[in-house]
Amino acid sequence: MESIAESATLRVTRRALELKRQGVPVIDFGAGEPDFASPAVAVEAAREALAAGFTKYTANNGIPELREALAERYRRDFGAPWDAADTLVTVGGKGALFEAALALFEAGTEVVLHSPAWVSFVEQIRFAGATPVAVPTDGADGFAIRAEPLVAALGPRTRAVILNSPCNPTGGVIEPAERRRLVEACAERGIVVLSDETYERFVYDGFEPGSAAALAAEFPDTVAVVGSFSKTYAMTGWRLGFLLGPRPLVDAAACIQSHATSNATSFAMKGAVAALAGAEAEVAAMIAEYAARRELLVERLRRLPGVRCAAPRGAFYAFPDISGRLDGDLSTPTDLAERLLEEEAVAVVAGEAFGSDRHVRLSFACSRAALAEGMDRVERFLARH
Ligand code: PLP
Repeated sequence: MESIAESATLRVTRRALELKRQGVPVIDFGAGEPDFASPAVAVEAAREALAAGFTKYTANNGIPELREALAERYRRDFGAPWDAADTLVTVGGKGALFEAALALFEAGTEVVLHSPAWVSFVEQIRFAGATPVAVPTDGADGFAIRAEPLVAALGPRTRAVILNSPCNPTGGVIEPAERRRLVEACAERGIVVLSDETYERFVYDGFEPGSAAALAAEFPDTVAVVGSFSKTYAMTGWRLGFLLGPRPLVDAAACIQSHATSNATSFAMKGAVAALAGAEAEVAAMIAEYAARRELLVERLRRLPGVRCAAPRGAFYAFPDISGRLDGDLSTPTDLAERLLEEEAVAVVAGEAFGSDRHVRLSFACSRAALAEGMDRVERFLARH
């Protein structure tokens, strides 16, 4: 336990909640949590399932209709070779990643990932006993995820590459040609590409995100995809994610799951089937709203003296470089985040959590009014410091 740390994003959320409970009007740019309601069709299907007594254990790896619907979605949209037997429904994307980490990583192996990276990747790698190898991405380059530096980091002990496009926290993406180059290099070396596509649908300015699943038919032993209902469908509390990929990996993850959580929640899975089948209009509306918020937030951040902000190409986070504002008693992003929360009741996540000592992360999964008010407060705060 000494080798891993509590999720820093959850810590910020906890402190923000504490302040809210005391009646402080907190503007929360911290949590990566959509402010939209879950799709009505999902709520209705789950309600019906509950009322009908669909409240028992299910098969450990998920209800057949959800596994089939997931496989069908990846076959249809990306030509993936997977069928229901190649899928596992998990307790959140986090569950899928954790099980995949335990199944694949072990002491003496290395896992390559681009950095800054989502908080849990590094901790999960360490928890499994392996060593993370971080490959930097650069704000001046829009945090683009490029194959070459990742391939250069592959070595004899590399077990996997974790790809997270669109990336939390940077908003960086990988272009399809770069993804192909990376997957080819990994396939040659027997290395798995674990592609976390939690933010797959949230891309902007006409970018076509695609999925590593599009390469799975060609490289069936190499490509594994993790996804989640949390962000795409604003279903965070339902705790539903999934893993699709090479059968031995999916089976191993299912075996771990059988001893950890067993099946994901029965009636929640019924809701997920309905979301996959009938929530496209809601998803499209959310994407359009995120795009508008992104414009608003990036424009406000760029107005701040000493702050630089790459426009995120995907996900729903801005990751401004605030190093130009760090000195004196605000010498780290953590100092800035803590003071901003205490003085102006604005929650952001300090970059250290993601492996950066120059950035903070602001989620724009909150209303435009909250964004405007929050940025007024940030301006006031920086004018004082
Ligand atoms: N992967 C990334 C990159 C994330 O940002 C998150 C959540 O913040 C997850 C996975 C896991 O989400 P969940 O467990 O809610 O599906």
